[in-house]
Amino acid sequence: MNKQTRQLAAVISGQDTSDGVGVRLKRIVSQQQKNAFDPFILLDEFGSDEPTDYIGGFPDHPHRGFETVTYMLAGAMLHRDHLGNEGHLRAGDVQWMTAAHGIIHSEMPEQENGLLHGFQLWINLPAKEKMKPPHYQDFAAEKIPRLALADGGYIKVIAGDYVTETQTISGPVTGVTTQPLYFDVLLSPKQQLDIPINPQHTALIYVYQGELAIGASDRILQAGQLGQFINGDNIQLATQQQSAQFLVLAALPLNEPVVQSGPFVMNSSEEIEQAFRDYRNGVLT
Ligand code: FE
Repeated sequence: MNKQTRQLAAVISGQDTSDGVGVRLKRIVSQQQKNAFDPFILLDEFGSDEPTDYIGGFPDHPHRGFETVTYMLAGAMLHRDHLGNEGHLRAGDVQWMTAAHGIIHSEMPEQENGLLHGFQLWINLPAKEKMKPPHYQDFAAEKIPRLALADGGYIKVIAGDYVTETQTISGPVTGVTTQPLYFDVLLSPKQQLDIPINPQHTALIYVYQGELAIGASDRILQAGQLGQFINGDNIQLATQQQSAQFLVLAALPLNEPVVQSGPFVMNSSEEIEQAFRDYRNGVLT
């Protein structure tokens, strides 16, 4: 079967904003997209070496109805939840938190200065899994397979499979209904890369350093931009004079109604009201 290369359908530039207690971040995917990237609800990049940009962190707050994925590039975060779980996230580590029925947690920088850089992604859960018990998949950096590419580039496979002609590299994340693909890629200048994508999946690329050319076209994604790729079973990428670092995200869309309010993502406004009521009454979790 002939491969069909996906087309770049939309480009979004991340917006500088703040969340938590004054944490400055770039918000790339949000409610503004009206679930156009189903099942991806939110994507934030936080990155600063100014302590005042991050020191306030994200004190106790709830989540229900989806999964949060935190991936650190630099610095250290301390995660604590209402169950007494505590996790230290360091450069290269991934925390895959399935909040489902309910988690109340804090995400605080575990450093007083230096660079803090990373991403938080929210992935929706299907209706039938929104009220399941919460659980975690935590992976230290060394548990994440890294395939070396030519000239110093690499692909880190956090979730899903990267399939080449000779091998399949599988990320450590398991048991997620939306079959997510999450890669962190570095391409050196003048490299090419083809990424196979399930034709049914939503596919996004977020460039966080350098610039990335799309296939043979002259379209470029700059650092801070996200591209949506539609129709096909592979994405063709290339670099020109600059290197590029980017995330590749893909997953099966849920095609269900989405109602989001703050930290809750449900299927109806009644369920959102229930979540707020449960939180007030101390029975969210
Ligand atoms: Fe949170």
